[in-house]
Amino acid sequence: MAESMLGLKRTARCGEFSVNDIGKEVTVMGWVQKSRNKGGLVFTDLRDRSGILQIIFEEDVCGSEVFAKAGTLKNEYCIAVKGNIRSRGKDANTELATGAIEVEAKELRILSESAVLPFQIEADTNTREELRLQYRYLDLRRPPLQKNIFLRHKLCIAVRNYMDEQGFLEIETPTFIKSTPEGARDYLVPSRVHQGEFYALPQSPQLLKQLLMCSGFDRYFQLARCYRDEDLRADRQPEFTQIDMELSFADVDDVIAVNEGLIKRIWKEVLGVDIELPIERMTWQTAMDKYGSDKPDLRFDLPITDISDVVKDCEFSVFADTIKNGGYVRAICVPGEGHMPRKKIDALVDVAKYYGGKGLAYLCVNCGENGEHKCSFAKFMKPEELEAIIKACGAKEGDLIVIAADKFTKVCQVLGNVRLELGKTLGLIDQGAWRFLWITEFPLLEWSEEENRFMAMHHPFTSPMEEDWEYIDSDPGRVRAKAYDIVLNGTELGGGSVRIHRADIQEKMLEVLGFTPEKAQSQFGFLLEAFKYGVPPHAGLAYGLDRVAMWMAGADSIRDVMAFPKIKDASDLMMGAPSVVDKQQLIDLAIKVDEDIINKNKEK
Ligand code: ASP
Repeated sequence: MAESMLGLKRTARCGEFSVNDIGKEVTVMGWVQKSRNKGGLVFTDLRDRSGILQIIFEEDVCGSEVFAKAGTLKNEYCIAVKGNIRSRGKDANTELATGAIEVEAKELRILSESAVLPFQIEADTNTREELRLQYRYLDLRRPPLQKNIFLRHKLCIAVRNYMDEQGFLEIETPTFIKSTPEGARDYLVPSRVHQGEFYALPQSPQLLKQLLMCSGFDRYFQLARCYRDEDLRADRQPEFTQIDMELSFADVDDVIAVNEGLIKRIWKEVLGVDIELPIERMTWQTAMDKYGSDKPDLRFDLPITDISDVVKDCEFSVFADTIKNGGYVRAICVPGEGHMPRKKIDALVDVAKYYGGKGLAYLCVNCGENGEHKCSFAKFMKPEELEAIIKACGAKEGDLIVIAADKFTKVCQVLGNVRLELGKTLGLIDQGAWRFLWITEFPLLEWSEEENRFMAMHHPFTSPMEEDWEYIDSDPGRVRAKAYDIVLNGTELGGGSVRIHRADIQEKMLEVLGFTPEKAQSQFGFLLEAFKYGVPPHAGLAYGLDRVAMWMAGADSIRDVMAFPKIKDASDLMMGAPSVVDKQQLIDLAIKVDEDIINKNKEK
């Protein structure tokens, strides 16, 4: 039976006591981690968010009634204990922070009992994630998750303090907004008052923060909830948090300066790690050419070399034709791996194919039985052509060269991923490193084969680089943007841009993106209107807070740093959301659910 706390007041949390408290009378409250009866004594490990404290019930001290009650304690009962702190003497448990002391109990109250648990509350668990998410409130009792949530809190506080010191105002923006394009699908909220009309949940507060600059707030930040209705590939969540910011009268260098300060500060405050500044910068073009990725992992090198010039006239049609058709032949030299077993090379070829490549050619320098080259395309090449490839790659005896030939995007994607695979399988990655990198000068536009038109690479409000604007009609793909990403260990932590603040450029940009003036007006007429009234030049950036926290916590997934995450199909297993709603709710909203479509989709 549950008892009340009446008359008891907690002295401190379990983990907060030490040998300095020996002799003191204390009241502690928490959960039973485990309790066992050993030779007339009941030992109970009491747990709260600060740690574990041992409680000991001795019949002589606590009396037979309390002792009998202690004998009924089971895992995860929530209890209060009053007693005296005493030394454990030679029985001290050095593995426990409070292992030198224990509470000699005099009083016990069972505040609430626990039913049989669906899984044990332990640091290490084999319980499958679905079950843990269904009982997330229990899962969150586990020390590693408690630690992650603490870390996230500390991170948020560090961000707030730093931004405040830098003159940023924390301003909340609404969650019900007008649908604005950022690339993903919007989550929609039907309006009851305006039946048939919908709010959208913000994919980010992009336009609102730009309008705050129009309002003269100069520097804004927010830990902003964002919502994107995407198919959840890999490690994404339909709702997530951004550290979002915007600065007036700022250009690329100003944003980078503020953010390098932020990164240094949060890493120091949360992890005690010193990040060296300035952070390296690399243009998008260099990153793609050299590492095949716009978020290269620089914890190891293995750069890509373009050998198109070297092989353009060779007889190997795979190479020569690719170049003739506007593609590239590129290579990675892997030092000392020329004797890599065939099976491992085949695994690399599979990676190349997985990422849409046709395959990989390879050349093992002087690795044949008689010191000749082992090469998958030797029969198509003259010896001097092979030597030229080896020279271009800076390879030497015993090295492996892998080669891909394809259109620019494909060849980057294929070799970028083969490079990552090599980094992983050859153990080249320094796991303790914090390798930050700025990627700058992204293309303003990217061609979409699917839509047969240019799309904004960042978003439609990103400023072009002044020196490239003249090509906007003649060669739009050539125009670079004042956009930047911050990359850590091969993942994108955040990104942003200098914004277009001139109405004429904004209108032109929308035209290039295929918006008719009417469509532009109906989607973000409010922004175009605001830009008529003296808009300051401005720029901003947003980080995925969850991702930052994940890296800091050394977690495998952003779910591990979120209190209540969703699973891949965007459902919440604990609450059972999304769910069917009451008929009347739909009537109020003038919404009719099409059962035929739903049933058909269910069959799929
Ligand atoms: N709103 C952008 C995003 O969510 C970030 C920015 O440009 O500030 O990616």
